[in-house]
Amino acid sequence: MKHLVTCMFLSLSAVLSFGAGLACAAEEGRAQSIIRNGEQASVRGSEQFFTGSVRIDPLYMADNDMRSSGGSVTFEPGARSHWHIHPVGQALIVTAGVGLTQEWGKPVQEIRPGDVVICPVGVKHWHGAAPNSSMTHISICEEKEPGKVVEWLEKVTDEQYNAR
Ligand code: MN
Repeated sequence: MKHLVTCMFLSLSAVLSFGAGLACAAEEGRAQSIIRNGEQASVRGSEQFFTGSVRIDPLYMADNDMRSSGGSVTFEPGARSHWHIHPVGQALIVTAGVGLTQEWGKPVQEIRPGDVVICPVGVKHWHGAAPNSSMTHISICEEKEPGKVVEWLEKVTDEQYNAR
């Protein structure tokens, strides 16, 4: 009985604190938002930063409350990013196809759906599709300063791309 009362008390306080949290959020004018699939236009990856055909489907932007932004990036076979560095790191979640990634000075590695690649702060790397398969990954980056999630470097040469 004592246990039951304790449980009830805990549940009640959980409900009360959750309610208080909601009231607090409402006071500050915040609300959950749902960005519907198809609301945000796809963008073609610029030749300045990518080799081959790349499509970026924005998922969400950083704002005052959240420092991360997310996008889904689809690389056609053979397409890849240029070498680059993330000032606050990056997480990649592969969602389709077969891809490749490489850290400067290390071997090219194959990545597949469900794999999560962590690109730490300041580590030079690239990512893209395998030669005969497209690849889609979700990319999550944090901004160091508004809009700054990547520092672009040189192209990945065919020799570097094919060195497997
Ligand atoms: Mn990256």
